[in-house]
Amino acid sequence: MTDFPRSLLEFQQRFPDEAACAGYLRQLRWPEGFVCPACGGTRGWALATKAHTHECADCHKQTSVTAGTVMHGSKLPLTVWFWAAYLMATHSNGISALQVQKQLGLGSYKSAWLLCAKLRRAMVAPERSPLAGLVEVDEASIACRTKDDPPAGGGGRSHQGKLLIAGAVEVGDGGPGRIRLAQIADFSARSLHAFLAVNLAPGTTARTDGWASYPGAPDLNHDPRVVGAMAAHIVLPWVHRVFSNLKTWALGVYHGLRPQHLQAYLDEFVFRFNRRRTRHAAFRSILAIGVAITPATYKMLIAPETQG
Ligand SMILES: [Zn+2]
Repeated sequence: MTDFPRSLLEFQQRFPDEAACAGYLRQLRWPEGFVCPACGGTRGWALATKAHTHECADCHKQTSVTAGTVMHGSKLPLTVWFWAAYLMATHSNGISALQVQKQLGLGSYKSAWLLCAKLRRAMVAPERSPLAGLVEVDEASIACRTKDDPPAGGGGRSHQGKLLIAGAVEVGDGGPGRIRLAQIADFSARSLHAFLAVNLAPGTTARTDGWASYPGAPDLNHDPRVVGAMAAHIVLPWVHRVFSNLKTWALGVYHGLRPQHLQAYLDEFVFRFNRRRTRHAAFRSILAIGVAITPATYKMLIAPETQG
């Protein structure tokens, strides 16, 4: 499927109004035609009196094209959602909520932040497949920003003010393939094995620096490259480059990441990295995932750590 705008001008011509955006969402959500979310019925009609809403011929439930999606219940026009998705997907480094607020002339920072947070949830495809083949794996810490901290954060070696992350990079012919990043509680075998189990397919070869927590991860081949005197960035060049790019990006776009939203920003970085050569197609991906996942409440978005 290659149905997405390839330039700003094309975007503007393609999505001038609510009806054009709704039509695009309908295609993404019901490519084979309307399906009633209540009874599974496929017969229905568009209502003339309610915007972007279908009524089921069998159970008569009325369903808006955005009902039950990431856009559920939003008061923002669809055109604003589309612009935000386009800016987040195509801007080479991503875009902060403050920039989105200014660019789209939104009334409050809060609504811009929520818009971005909801779109960020649409950057993890529910059915994405785990990494496979040869994969570099390493762990790192990243300086975090607290309420009182200056945005740049301080140096220092303690883990205070630091967030721990695990990273994995597929290594193909002379370059990196897809990546995964996750926040972890510590560098223990339990935490790292859990990361590997979720993100690496069985049979994958995990190349590590030989850290004691890696051996014994089930269903994987372990390829420890004991670093010794050799710097880790030489034996694991790609995962180190990813960590380094992540830190630069976090400071440049967000002036440092906050602990309570770390995983969401890691997900955004992964989404952007894995689509670095197909940014315009990424716009379509965000909306396609957005209509396939369930909506998040305000509480879930502001305090994701309270979720199970
Ligand atoms: Zn129905």
